[in-house]
Amino acid sequence: METERESMDFDVVIVGGGPAGLATACKLMQLAKESETELSVVVLEKGSEIGAHILSGAILEPKALNELFPDWKEKGAPLNTEVTGDEMHFYTGMEKSIKVPNFMIPKPMHNDGNYIVSLGNVARWMGEQAEALGVEIFPGFAAAEILYSEDGSVAGVATGDMGIGADGEKKDSFEPGMELRAKYTIFAEGCRGHLGKQLIKKYNLDEGKSPQHYGIGLKELWKVDKEKHQPGLVVHGAGWPLGESGATGGSFLYHLEDQMVVVGLIVDLNYSNTHLSPFDEFQVFKHHKSVKTVLEGGERISYGARAIVKGGLNSLPKMTFPGGLIVGCDAGTLNFAKIKGSHTAMKSGMIAAETLFEELTTNAESTGKELESFTENFNNSWLYQELHASRNFGPAMHKFGTYIGGAFNYIDQNLLGGKMPFTLKDDTPDHATLKTAEESPSIEYPSPDGKISFDKPSSVFLSNTNHEEDQPAHLTLIDPLIPIGTNLPKWDEPAQRYCPAGVYEVVEKDNDKQLQINAQNCVHCKTCDIKDPSQNITWVVPEGGGGPNYPNM
Ligand SMILES: Cc1cc2nc3c(=O)[nH]c(=O)nc-3n(C[C@H](O)[C@H](O)[C@H](O)COP(=O)(O)OP(=O)(O)OC[C@H]3O[C@@H](n4cnc5c(N)ncnc54)[C@H](O)[C@@H]3O)c2cc1C
Repeated sequence: METERESMDFDVVIVGGGPAGLATACKLMQLAKESETELSVVVLEKGSEIGAHILSGAILEPKALNELFPDWKEKGAPLNTEVTGDEMHFYTGMEKSIKVPNFMIPKPMHNDGNYIVSLGNVARWMGEQAEALGVEIFPGFAAAEILYSEDGSVAGVATGDMGIGADGEKKDSFEPGMELRAKYTIFAEGCRGHLGKQLIKKYNLDEGKSPQHYGIGLKELWKVDKEKHQPGLVVHGAGWPLGESGATGGSFLYHLEDQMVVVGLIVDLNYSNTHLSPFDEFQVFKHHKSVKTVLEGGERISYGARAIVKGGLNSLPKMTFPGGLIVGCDAGTLNFAKIKGSHTAMKSGMIAAETLFEELTTNAESTGKELESFTENFNNSWLYQELHASRNFGPAMHKFGTYIGGAFNYIDQNLLGGKMPFTLKDDTPDHATLKTAEESPSIEYPSPDGKISFDKPSSVFLSNTNHEEDQPAHLTLIDPLIPIGTNLPKWDEPAQRYCPAGVYEVVEKDNDKQLQINAQNCVHCKTCDIKDPSQNITWVVPEGGGGPNYPNM
């Protein structure tokens, strides 16, 4: 099959058209233009267009964008709603909440000077800037395989073959994948990138680090009544309903422009009760009196879900390897104390571009080297300082829970400025925290009312998810017998609950319970790859272009 593939050569191949990948591309081309250097840079994006697979809150801290495009306003960047009000609520039940006084909120969570955006639309705009600077963008092309040189360095990537049937046979529409070879390859796939995961393993990039930690974020976009709309208002929350089962996480409700409101819940994936369903927790959360009041009478426009990486500096792998770099949430640069990763993803890409440009211009023959100067440049940047100051935030929440962890973070962030003289660690991976079905108290979720809360099928419908049905499953089981033999009786197959899109269903077949995988529903959130207690599910890219089509998430 390999010999059939066409091959193209570039100076730099970037995998992933999100904030990290596009910031890398834009910065590289800006530097090239300034010094009148020719560079060939390509960005591969698995979504049908840039932004189609991006789901974020999103409050954007414009620090990195200001550095990358000081004139972003004149260039029409879609940062239209400045934060005008910033509230934090502690929910104690469906009817009750306590508003946390401003001075008690950990400083990194303050949002003065930030913007409420659709990150998908910001990425679309960044894609336009990249193209105007001369970057080639290939949407609908998923990097499926890493190419290696004989010396073991990364030499580029190959896109997947198109037109292979579910039986593994070539269809009439078969087209072989394409090899994109590069002097250097930058991986910017976002949280739990499937190639990033392979690189971390192959080059032991996480040696000596805490395991990476994650949450799953569920989000809906609503159009609400005019009189309920307060453009620029940000409301964060914690406590109910997650606290009822001992889980942690947080909610968000942001008022954008044009009567649009986003509402979401992030559930930390270290939860232990196997009966917990992040999707249902989210649906229940929307019934909180203060949230329901805003949504009632409105229209739900869109739904989606995506994992969020939150291990911070303690879990950040080495970002360099021979022939490339891994940047943004693919590595884990998100600052969890701020619940923000867009500005840090952009900055990591900009540092990558500066390092790469220096290498390519001082040594025209350079290829396949390990760009060690990246680590020094990264450690000397504001990004490192930011991540260092917030290194204890996540571990404190995991170790001590919402109340004591919250108090610890208040002291660390507000009184000590992130300079606590020790570092807390959480060395238990998220997939290892699940208690068995017997040990976990049962949870009864109410049926959705169809006005504020909804079921999974009608939600997935709103994500515009589409996959070619006749293709090999992209959710692969390392051992197909494990879910039946282990997960089902022991944990009552948790995938049927933690998957926010109904991909995993337990069905009766031949008088037996079996796991059915509805891969066409997959919204590419990657939660199954993270939380499966047997670590038996491996998410790989489907045919390019497949997946959600988020208009403005
Ligand atoms: C619910 C939620 C709320 C959040 N809220 C905020 C917030 O308020 N503020 C904030 O700053 N951050 C927030 N974040 C985090 C923020 O979204 C991320 O930090 C940011 O998107 C990371 O950018 P990235 O470029 O590294 O990855 P991504 O934005 O995930 O982009 C990666 C891109 O790579 C593509 N890709 C992946 N694999 C491949 C492949 N193999 N081949 C081709 N293309 C590929 C993807 O389709 C995607 O377009 C939130 C995240 C979630 C989930």
